[in-house]
Amino acid sequence: MFGALKTFGEMRNWHLKYAKFNWRTHQSLLAHCLNVSSLSYSLLDYLGEQQFVKATDKLRVQVLLTGFLHDAGKERGSYQQAVEDFLCGRGFEPLDFGHQQEMDLRPVVEPLRTYVEDRLPPMRDLGSIWEEIVWSITQMGRREDAGAVSHSFERAPSNDALTCKEVVHLADVMMSKLGVDDTASVSLNGQTISRLQLTYSKVSVVRGVLTQFLHAALESQFTGAGFRPVQWFPDGTVYIGRADAKVPQIDSTKLIESVVRKMQDVLDKSRPLQMAKAAYGNLRAQVIAAPEFLFANNDIIHEFWQYISKQRFATPSNKKLDEFRDTERKVYQQISDQLTGKDESTRLTLLARFLADFNLLIVLYAARKELVENARYAGSDSKKIGEEASKKIQETLAQVLEIPLAHIATWPEIALQTKAERRLPVAQTLWLSPYYRDPDEWQKKLLEALEKATIGLADIWRGSIPDKYVAIARLLASDVSHPLDPKAILETVENLNTVITEGKTGHGTSTCQRCGGVAAYEAQAELFGNSEIYHDNLVAGSRVGGGNKIRVCELCEFEEKLRSVFMTRGQEPFSTFYIIPHLAISRNQQLDWQKVAREIMYNQGQLPPLLRVNRWAEFIIEGGIPSFPTPLEKSSSFFSEKERAWAIQEIADEEGLEGDLSSMIDPPLDAKDGKAVASYLSKGRCKLKEKYEKKVYEILNRLEPIYLSPNFILLLTTGTVENQDEPESSAAIKWLFFRCVLARLFSATVLADDSIREEGATLGYTTFPLNITLRSLGKKLGVQKGWISIPNLERALKKLSALILVSHELSNEQADYGNATLLRLLDEEPGRVLVRVTNKNQAYPKKVISYLDAWNDGKRNVLRGVEYA
Ligand SMILES: [Zn+2]
Repeated sequence: MFGALKTFGEMRNWHLKYAKFNWRTHQSLLAHCLNVSSLSYSLLDYLGEQQFVKATDKLRVQVLLTGFLHDAGKERGSYQQAVEDFLCGRGFEPLDFGHQQEMDLRPVVEPLRTYVEDRLPPMRDLGSIWEEIVWSITQMGRREDAGAVSHSFERAPSNDALTCKEVVHLADVMMSKLGVDDTASVSLNGQTISRLQLTYSKVSVVRGVLTQFLHAALESQFTGAGFRPVQWFPDGTVYIGRADAKVPQIDSTKLIESVVRKMQDVLDKSRPLQMAKAAYGNLRAQVIAAPEFLFANNDIIHEFWQYISKQRFATPSNKKLDEFRDTERKVYQQISDQLTGKDESTRLTLLARFLADFNLLIVLYAARKELVENARYAGSDSKKIGEEASKKIQETLAQVLEIPLAHIATWPEIALQTKAERRLPVAQTLWLSPYYRDPDEWQKKLLEALEKATIGLADIWRGSIPDKYVAIARLLASDVSHPLDPKAILETVENLNTVITEGKTGHGTSTCQRCGGVAAYEAQAELFGNSEIYHDNLVAGSRVGGGNKIRVCELCEFEEKLRSVFMTRGQEPFSTFYIIPHLAISRNQQLDWQKVAREIMYNQGQLPPLLRVNRWAEFIIEGGIPSFPTPLEKSSSFFSEKERAWAIQEIADEEGLEGDLSSMIDPPLDAKDGKAVASYLSKGRCKLKEKYEKKVYEILNRLEPIYLSPNFILLLTTGTVENQDEPESSAAIKWLFFRCVLARLFSATVLADDSIREEGATLGYTTFPLNITLRSLGKKLGVQKGWISIPNLERALKKLSALILVSHELSNEQADYGNATLLRLLDEEPGRVLVRVTNKNQAYPKKVISYLDAWNDGKRNVLRGVEYA
């Protein structure tokens, strides 16, 4: 039913119309009506469960429809025009909770009835509810006191209609509030609803994944006390409960426990491989980027070494002597001096094997180094721990590889910097192992030793370093701004004081450059985004990374690490977006978001992958955006056979299925590589097994939505829309387009990572880049107060599509302006663009003309933009 209502609303362009508007928030009619509908249903459901009303099936349907239709009158052009006039300062504010007149409702009620009855035939038996719905809605704006109701000349047609009037009105008021605290203080006057109470939880800062853990933990505290979450804001949640129930005091110990448990479940248990990958940094820089992930449990340690052993540096290479680096040649010299009897190829093989083994040892000793440093940071006796760790490593290697301990004890410190001449004793020691002769067996044994030694280190870690999740959860708990136990506030203040007076990093009391909290870390700057990201707090134009370090707090540092755990390959996300509701979200819209998130993440090619903006532009120009699901012909998949082959091969490599991929498919045909599998697939001769199929599309779509609590979605991308060396403002146009598509798909506001903290207001679907170069584009798109407004979303999508496609056609004809083509097109006369194309190509450029038309669609809109400015 909810899906049908959504489609019906979209058909009537409710997503481009206003329902709510003020200086801080705009909400589309579609989002508002769907949410009021769903919230009404949740309220009724709870009332029914508490036996305050008899929630029959008929009443449930009725409340859903009444909620959906309660503002239907606002779809009128005259109302929408009045809102626009008001927002531009040309008119008075249109009445918001004004009565919905019957004559305004009828034009929507009748078509909806037909639409619903066509799709859901049993609805025909409920014919009488439509009159009741109209009654409830027309009465809804009226005064609530008993006298007014009894004197009303239009008597209620039924008790159900009365209940709907009351419940939907409450849902409407709740869904119109700006913040979680305003919503929870809505007064509950009414026969039925006065038996309820509202309460809420709220956080002071939205950090991303960490905040989702916190929201989820808070929710479980309330549900445990008999309350039910019904409405979600990005920074908080509204709950209903019985009027006589006691509002839970948040017990911070329980809250912390709950956060920790959720982190363990979502991270350690569900994603050991990603945790392992995110733990690893880079052999040449910080080898172990997140030791707390590596040491979290033994499964992760196992996955970690499996992953490391497949890295190129960990496998012997077939290089010739002159292809090796200087240090490597020095090692060769030393080895040769020891092995005068052997021929060159034997010596080279030994060298290659040793180099790979030594790299693996570097990784192991880097783990030890992290253990020692973290012990020092935690105030433990790091010297003692260092000795203990070395002993553990030496004993384990000696035992598993059957090498005399005394030899291993003479090893130098093992690191990337270890001098060539000092590496020889290590090689000599390894040769002592009885397993060394057989390279395959040796590899197995060495891995076993490394894994075992790491488990040994993990034991020491757990014994001497405070649990990271507990530390994080404790810090996170002080983000809770409601409800707070006064004792917890005091505790928080004390914690802060200790941090400030101790000045943990020796940098005094610097503030976190992300959230403004106390910065405890001079963070591994490389975590904070790839080289493409500029940070406001750095010297203008300088890139994060390298020598530039930014100071952040422990929470912000951990947040960055966490995000990479949600990437399929544990890498850093390329970019991050927030999908947030227009105001707030209800249960049904949350389910809808989940559905859309799955569709874009595992899209099998019915839609273009989101990062491919050219394809999306074509898609939109050709037919607009369809609603999900869009079953297209299989043959018109947006993924080519070659792309599938590549993704399948990637997975095969990861799973260690070298040369035989038959176990990935059903039936298990002979397949030696990804290409073979992809070819079978396109001939329909076999199917990928489900878990592999999902993974193939996950890799191809390059998106990772994180949705651990209903309040908002964090969307990470693996790839980018940018071309190499593309100017920043040109890329900004494509990212704007990308956000608009997302906003349309989710019927929600989409913000880039940092804007969630910067934007005090949400005035539409997404923000327009603050960039002087793009000013004329802003005018063309009708940007208002820095936003793509609700009515302008689809126009913006069409125009941006046209712009992107003109640019694409120009490069196809080799008539482009190089990297800055998109920017040049912003102000170029259409005629001159055409001349450029025709100069290169004799044919009549039909496509380019139609795109240019769409881009310029008459002077009318350009003038309109000027008027607004
Ligand atoms: Zn911070």
